[in-house]
Amino acid sequence: MTADNPSLRPWRDIERRKSRQIMVGDVPVGGDAPITVQTMTNTLTSDAKATIDQIRRCEEAGVDIIRVSCPDVESTTALKQIVRASRVPIVADIHFHYKRGIEAAEAGAACLRINPGNIGSSTRVKEVVDAAKANGCAIRIGVNAGSLERHLLEKYGEPCPEALVESALDHIKLLQDHDFHEYKVAVKASDVFLAVAAYMQLADAVDCPLHVGITEAGGLIGGTVKSSIGIGNLLWAGIGDTIRVSLSAEPEEEVRVGYDMLKALGLRTRGVRVVSCPSCARQGFDVIRTVQKLEERLQHIRTPLSLSVLGCVVNGPGEARETDIGITGGGKGKHMVYLSGVTDHHVEDDNMVDHIVKLVEAKAAEIEDGVSEAA
Ligand code: SF4
Repeated sequence: MTADNPSLRPWRDIERRKSRQIMVGDVPVGGDAPITVQTMTNTLTSDAKATIDQIRRCEEAGVDIIRVSCPDVESTTALKQIVRASRVPIVADIHFHYKRGIEAAEAGAACLRINPGNIGSSTRVKEVVDAAKANGCAIRIGVNAGSLERHLLEKYGEPCPEALVESALDHIKLLQDHDFHEYKVAVKASDVFLAVAAYMQLADAVDCPLHVGITEAGGLIGGTVKSSIGIGNLLWAGIGDTIRVSLSAEPEEEVRVGYDMLKALGLRTRGVRVVSCPSCARQGFDVIRTVQKLEERLQHIRTPLSLSVLGCVVNGPGEARETDIGITGGGKGKHMVYLSGVTDHHVEDDNMVDHIVKLVEAKAAEIEDGVSEAA
């Protein structure tokens, strides 16, 4: 299939902003590294078992980097166990308490989310930076329109792109003054226009990797739409080295939405890319329920491949030609299955979902075999 190969479709190509690369644990962020997907746990960090269980679910969904809040010493104490158990790098989220930052770095966090301008004196900043350096820990500066410094609000009158960028540059300077350069930056707002404008300005002003997100975007559907517009616009413009979709939903949902965004823009491939129709009176089978079941049952597939599920022959054959596996609804409960874009055999209603799951698993195994033989 050629549909996922941008080099064969120049109008699908996205030119990424050239950023400096940093390491978050063993995961590169920026430069030509794949755009990573992040989320954040919502368990009590002091409850290491619950946090590790949630991290596992996020790992299954494909998370690259995961953030945990460290509001108290119980959390940074539990962090050691969490870092040991996690298969992905951990970012410790610190607000104001510089000692939590030092403890988190010493506990093995791969990155601190901390704003150096919010932790007090230059001595404190130096102590945190020294702990980060000593423990190979990166830092993520996270400017948020909802917690902008008072002097910037007074200067600009309201949160605006210039204020967010100025705040980010102030925090960056504090790190650079201590000769620390392993940082990435976010300038988030819940307002899509504000966030996008701020990131656009920041992208021109700095060369560090950018962590992109629309903060407090909302619930699963509304927040996904809002994030897709904001993050999607930035990614389309080539801006963004790592993303977090902020939803009032479980963290693994944020990961799935993040991947779907990157997959829609051809920036990452993971798992099954489903092409399906909304269905109408012409449908030969219950498209909506079938797609729901397939999405549920195919979550374990990590190999990138495409599947089209169309209710009838109006658009079914055309979409099937562009996907690895396709199904098009036919009459009397008999539907056409396409393999590699070519008609292959029929399947009946009764065992359609089981049959497609087996076909997808077999295709994934075939692709994996091909990859390992070629390696
Ligand atoms: S593919 Fe067929 S069933 Fe699906 S929406 Fe189009 S016309 Fe309706």
